[in-house]
Amino acid sequence: VLDLRLIRDDPDLVKRAVEAKGIDLDVDALLALDAEVRRLKGSSEAAQAEKKRLSKEFGRADEETRARLREEIARIDAGLQKDKDDLAAKQAELDELMLLTPGIPWEGAPVGADESDNVVIKKVGEPPVFDFEPLDHITLLEQRGWAEFARARNVAGERAYALVGDAVLLERALLSYALDVLVTRDFTPISVPSLVREMALVGTGMFPKGREETYELPADNLFLAGTAEVALVGLHAGEILDKARLPIKYAGISPCFRREIGSASRDVRGLVRVHQFEKVEQFILCEADDAESERWHATLLDCAESLLQALGLAYEVVECATGDMGIGKFRMNDINTWFPSLHTFRETHSCSTLHDWQARRADLRYRDSDGTVKHVHTLNNTAIATPRLVAALVENHQNADGTVTVPEPLRPYLGGRAVL
Ligand code: AMP
Repeated sequence: VLDLRLIRDDPDLVKRAVEAKGIDLDVDALLALDAEVRRLKGSSEAAQAEKKRLSKEFGRADEETRARLREEIARIDAGLQKDKDDLAAKQAELDELMLLTPGIPWEGAPVGADESDNVVIKKVGEPPVFDFEPLDHITLLEQRGWAEFARARNVAGERAYALVGDAVLLERALLSYALDVLVTRDFTPISVPSLVREMALVGTGMFPKGREETYELPADNLFLAGTAEVALVGLHAGEILDKARLPIKYAGISPCFRREIGSASRDVRGLVRVHQFEKVEQFILCEADDAESERWHATLLDCAESLLQALGLAYEVVECATGDMGIGKFRMNDINTWFPSLHTFRETHSCSTLHDWQARRADLRYRDSDGTVKHVHTLNNTAIATPRLVAALVENHQNADGTVTVPEPLRPYLGGRAVL
């Protein structure tokens, strides 16, 4: 959420962000509620003070005055109870609206409604040129006996898949490689729960907007998280960290679950958009300094780009438009990797800076050197998400005979094999 003081001081800035991000929030209504909450708090305090004064007087008063004071105090009590009820209702309304306040996007973000307004800022590597008719990953995996799609759908419905044999080893190799690279860059590997409480989803900003994308387990009051970010944000919720502990750099690994309601008929075949996948996620908590989080944003992007370069995959980096970046973000850069069968780049990574927007929701704080308590900045980026990257890998590195050449850095994880 935003700092309420910022909304009061500069409502126009917030209105511009609301419009640029396409959020359904009436900032004036929010400010009117805020004023009403403050008025009710003020009148409660005044009534409390008056009650205290009358109670003191009561001790010194004669019987006749006491009867009058009793009446007056009863009248104040009734008013106080009404104020209390009104305040609770208005505060709840205000809290709900606050959850819809957007992070202010950085000035370099293209203003636009959706991903069609994203701007490519960098292209790296050359898409492969084949001297044979390349296969799409579904055909290739099925031909090699590396995936079960139809049988998996019998078990688990649409978008289900099962990887088999070398494809499983390749997936494990990718995830292990990503984790090892992050460890050499001083990230702490951490495996986190995918089963999470509602408050963790509110804390990251996945709820309330976008709630329908999350699987719910009502019998247990739990949800299936779509990313390790949910647990990683929740991990330090409510704490006041020592500044010396910052930055905290996590390489979070978890199974991820997404309903993909918003993309009902897109990518229904294959491994690009599935309901259950694995991800190594880069996540950072750093001090509340814009220059510091800008540096970490660059580092997170660089980690992801280095991984793709080492895997021999061509990609582009895009500057995400305000309407695509999500409610809480300050800046988002997607990395899109080349998919030969699609003749295009598809998103494989998403790098985001949220400044203190997430930290305010989840109550993530630290004590600065001067003793003041501040909200941290949070950032995240994909390191490797599979099976989408398995699909990219087999499509880009396939050979005429249906084999797949293993990129150099993955070979140690596959018993030294150069070709699968
Ligand atoms: P996000 O957390 O939405 O930024 O997604 C991070 C990455 O996870 C994406 O760039 C994809 O590589 C991967 N991913 C997201 N959703 C899916 C999905 N439904 N199926 C497969 N991979 C996904």
